[in-house]
Amino acid sequence: MVDTNSRQIIIDDTTLRDGEQTAGVVFSLAEKKRIARLLDATGVGELECGIPAMGREEQASVRALVELGLNARLITWNRAVITDIQASIDSGVGAVDISLSVSDFHIEHKLHKSRDWVREQLKQALGFAKQNDLYVCVGGEDASRADLDFLVELMEIARSLGADRFRFCDTLGILDPFTTFDKVSTLASRVALDLEIHTHNDLGMATANAIAGIRAGARFVNTTVNGLGERAGNAALEEVVMALKHACGVDPAIDTGRLVELSKLVGEASGRPVPDWKPVVGEKVFSHESGLHADGVLKCPGNYEGFDPAEVGLARHLVIGKHSGRHGVQERLGRLGLNLGRLELEALLPRVRGLAQGLKGALTDQELLQLCHDHHQAGASHPRQVC
Ligand SMILES: [Zn+2]
Repeated sequence: MVDTNSRQIIIDDTTLRDGEQTAGVVFSLAEKKRIARLLDATGVGELECGIPAMGREEQASVRALVELGLNARLITWNRAVITDIQASIDSGVGAVDISLSVSDFHIEHKLHKSRDWVREQLKQALGFAKQNDLYVCVGGEDASRADLDFLVELMEIARSLGADRFRFCDTLGILDPFTTFDKVSTLASRVALDLEIHTHNDLGMATANAIAGIRAGARFVNTTVNGLGERAGNAALEEVVMALKHACGVDPAIDTGRLVELSKLVGEASGRPVPDWKPVVGEKVFSHESGLHADGVLKCPGNYEGFDPAEVGLARHLVIGKHSGRHGVQERLGRLGLNLGRLELEALLPRVRGLAQGLKGALTDQELLQLCHDHHQAGASHPRQVC
């Protein structure tokens, strides 16, 4: 296995390109600038920021992002045609992704061309980009379905003509992490050219596949904030970052404390609010209700939390509901200024559970206090005020 600690992983976030390609999503220029600035401040190394060949408005917005003077490298998406690359040059960027279909399926059913045609397009487009001193990523669209020997051949052409890296795209999101690992490690072992992993979430494996690609040797990884992107989306920036840090022990060199802020900004700008249960950044992913878990977290958060919620800008919540236990209720009442003894708590607990069942949800502080009051009126001893 490749030692991921020995090389810095570079995140190329494509929220502003693949993310905006989500059906029905459009960012205004002001939103693009805010997102780009925040991604940059978070430490993301590269931003794929648009498709200049789409026309003047897109070119103007790419130029406006260039003029922000960010630390992150800005890169644009291009088909392997010279007019696309010229449009990128006219927008002021110094880096391009030159994308071309590499699977026989796409070559036959989408392009209606041949492998030879693909080779020639690559040579022409890459030659033109390099004549213009651009940093070039060659993007292998539908690489996950492509013949590996053909990919090696294209990567060799790319390397010999000065390409800076090759993007392995699981365009349809059909790989699993084991196959991703095998394919990427084969390419890494056969061609001396940096690899980038680009994954989609159609089977819910975008993040896992991105991590597999990195472990197999990819030094670059594509992400989008909240996993925005075509169909089911791309690998989510926040998931890849925290998985690198906590599952792989790799420092992603990202200010993780801004991930929630970033997630909210993109959620609003895209009109796709972040679900409460979204891994890493969802508002309620650090909520605990069940008696065992709440008690465990109260004893030591590490019992039931893989990382501190503050690491990503979230807070922990102990929820009072159907599965609550004595310690959770005691802790909440304590914070509300009531100190109940063990017997009182045990008597109260069935009422808490009954009310939660009736509400089909959690109790608010007010509902819990009212329940205490009713319980007391019904004859229990008076709870002591502790404040
Ligand atoms: Zn994509």
